Amino acid sequence: MTLVDAPKAPARHPEKAHRPDQPGAKKPDWIRVKAPGSQAWRDTAAVVKAHRLVTVCEEAGCPNIGECWEKKHATFMILGDTCTRACAFCNVKTGLPGTINSHEPAQVAAAVAELNLAHVVVTSVDRDDLDDGGAAHFAAVIGAVRAASPATTIEVLTPDFLRKPGALEIVIEAAPDVFNHNLETVPSKYLSVRPGARYFHSVRLLQRARELAPQLFTKSGIMVGLGETRDEILQLMDDLRSAEVDFLTIGQYLQPTRKHHPVISFPTPDEFKALEAIAYAKGFLMVSASPLTRSSYHAAEDFAKLKAARTSRRPE
Ligand code: SF4
Repeated sequence: MTLVDAPKAPARHPEKAHRPDQPGAKKPDWIRVKAPGSQAWRDTAAVVKAHRLVTVCEEAGCPNIGECWEKKHATFMILGDTCTRACAFCNVKTGLPGTINSHEPAQVAAAVAELNLAHVVVTSVDRDDLDDGGAAHFAAVIGAVRAASPATTIEVLTPDFLRKPGALEIVIEAAPDVFNHNLETVPSKYLSVRPGARYFHSVRLLQRARELAPQLFTKSGIMVGLGETRDEILQLMDDLRSAEVDFLTIGQYLQPTRKHHPVISFPTPDEFKALEAIAYAKGFLMVSASPLTRSSYHAAEDFAKLKAARTSRRPE
């Protein structure tokens, strides 16, 4: 028995604490992942730790961490580990974030060089508390990685920069190779899944990125299994094609805790394949659709395919 209770760690999702528990769904057989723990996985973990970096792989509890980290593919999450939004699907900690780590661009650049990454994905928490939403910090990270590893291609997966005029322009000016922003779900689910965001603002952000840098590759992703209908997914594909988005990812939503949005359905791998075929027919250059697809899953291999697809489609 202890006389003094250890201080309690702050709740990871204080805004969800009062919500009733949601039923947990049994995962189907096709959701099978590689367990983390190999030597290569430990080497990646050591680099992340040595440079005191945050990864979305860990913070979001990504099921692919065993496979990705074995290939040294970690996705860095900049601007802290605390998000100012409270999306119902996301496992990233929510609350008031701390100050920006001004050494982070150099730390990310050093880790990318040490991991010898051909392609890196950099994402962030939402920083509604900052005037530029963290855009200048994104630009600083892009610049630092370019300087340290000029051959590495850079993909940014940004927040929506809602009510942050000029923020997108700052990121695009820094010249990433891929601009990724996830719609996450269909418009009818925004209120319950992504209440702090606006669907058409996100579509417009992607369209604007393309307008600002016509050679840039643009990318967006959604989760299925949140209660959306097939017609709504097809409409979303059309909306993304109207914004000239090149690459679409579609993955299965998995419920991080009982306080998060429940899983409504588990589409089969064949249903994912059917969505992939429809998306290609609608004109996307690249589509990745499978239960375990995530924005950054296989990002390096997919970027090579994306470039090849644009080259082969370009008129002589
Ligand atoms: S899919 Fe993305 S977030 Fe998940 S482990 Fe791989 S790199 Fe990390």
